[in-house]
Order: sequence, then C-alpha cells, then structure tokens
Amino acid sequence: MPELPEVETVRRGLAPVMEGHVIAHASVNRPDLRWPFPPRMAERLTGRRVQALRRRSKYILADLDSGETLLIHLGMSGRMLVSGDPLGVFVHDHPAPEKHDHVVLEMETGARITFNDPRRFGAMDLMDTATAEAHKLLAALGPEPLGNDFNEPHLVAALHGRNTPIKAALLDQHIVAGLGNIYVCEALYRARIHPGRKAGRISARRVAALVPIIREVLADAISAGGSSLRDFRQADGELGYFQHSFDVYGREGHPCRTPGCEAKIRRIVQSGRSSFYCPSCQR
Ligand SMILES: [Zn+2]
Repeated sequence: MPELPEVETVRRGLAPVMEGHVIAHASVNRPDLRWPFPPRMAERLTGRRVQALRRRSKYILADLDSGETLLIHLGMSGRMLVSGDPLGVFVHDHPAPEKHDHVVLEMETGARITFNDPRRFGAMDLMDTATAEAHKLLAALGPEPLGNDFNEPHLVAALHGRNTPIKAALLDQHIVAGLGNIYVCEALYRARIHPGRKAGRISARRVAALVPIIREVLADAISAGGSSLRDFRQADGELGYFQHSFDVYGREGHPCRTPGCEAKIRRIVQSGRSSFYCPSCQR
C-alpha cells in the first residue's frame, strides 16, 4: 500500500508530464472505483490545462484551468504508468491496454498517463479548487508532516493526556496527515520509543524529538523514491514503488541495527496491524 513517500514520488514523476500541459483526451472506462466517479468526468477533464500538481497527505491534486481540481487516490493497489512522453523524461512506448486500466489521460504532448487499479480501492473525484480543502476526504486531515504546521508545540499538545498507544496516535490522521504503518514503525525506532507506550505518558522532550525524526524518515524515503524515478526512466514507466531498506519494518527476528545492541527485532500486533520494534532500544 503506498504511503506518503510513495505518493510524493508518483507526484514528482507525474509533474513533468502534467504540469502546464493540456489533457487532450480523457477516457474513463468504468463508472466507479472505490466510489462512483463524478458526473461527466471525462468531459470535465478533456481540454483542460493542468496548472499545478500538488499533494495533500496521500492524495494527489491536479488544479485545472477550469477552476476544478482532480483528486487522485492510489488506494491499495493503484498504479500510475507514464508512456510516450515526447519531452524525453519517459522514453517508453505506449503499452498494450490492460484489463484494469480504468482512467487514461492523453496529453496534448503525446504523453499518456494510465491509472491501473486491480483491487479498485483507489479513487478519483473533481471539486472546485477554491473549496478543495473542504472536500470530505481532506477536511478532517491534520497538518502535513513535512509542512510548518507540524511542529513540536502541535505534537506535544495533540498527544497530551492521550491514553492510546503512541503507534495509534501517530496513525491518527487528525494529529498528523499521511503517516502510515511503515514510517511510524521506523520513526519510533529512531526515537527509541516503544510502539505500545501510552502517548500521554511520554515526556514532552521525547515527543518534541519525534517531530524532526518523522520529517527525516519521510525525507529519506522520498529521496530513495527520487533515485527510483531516475531508474525507472530506463525501466517500465511505472511510478511510485521502490526498493527501500527499513531498520525495523518487516525485519522480525533480524538483529537490531543500532551499534552495540544485540537484541532481535520483534513484531507485535496493535489494532490489527503489525508493529516492528527493538525490545532493547525502544522503551
Ligand atoms: Zn536495538
């Protein structure tokens, strides 16, 4: 499932083929994904110039010159493929259409962007740009972890008195937007905080220290995604999934990477999701 760094990598991969360019033709091949598409979606996209390509949490937002914004959510299995770009960023020929190619955007430049999603948990919607922040998927989101509103006073206040485990608190999208299971595990490892520790029982000093750590974990992953962007220009044009080595995530039973620590990484299940941590380093 793509998390914030993967979505940001997709955004960065799409930006050169979309930003400033006109959608010459949009094809919408089914009535819905997770939810029904908005009425006349293909017509409302066709002929529009993409003025900016933004990201909010795990959503990609394309602002159109019609005053509307296209929201794209990759869901569990959504993939974006770019082909036939004459600007030379992507050199792939158009692939043969596949069964799960639900939305295809043909750009005026000749580039093609294909949204493929076998499990159909993804979503696309159109909204007025002016009121985009009030969209049902965006309205309740907390601050962006890489933005200025996510800071030490905010996190200390948000966790104050909370009886939930820190793992659950950091996954709460009202507290911080876009953090998922993988990067919360990695951030708690770097902060040396046990994922089961009650959020309200962690000292303000340790909570404050989490803020730069969360930013650093995400920035490292985004930079790994950037390397993958350079690689897949020679590969198959699929955006967003990249090899990344984690310190704890998926490493149950493997040795802790902290120098001098001899413990092995453990896995526990919290609210139905796996948490990976070092029982020696994280308290
Ligand atoms: Zn350790």
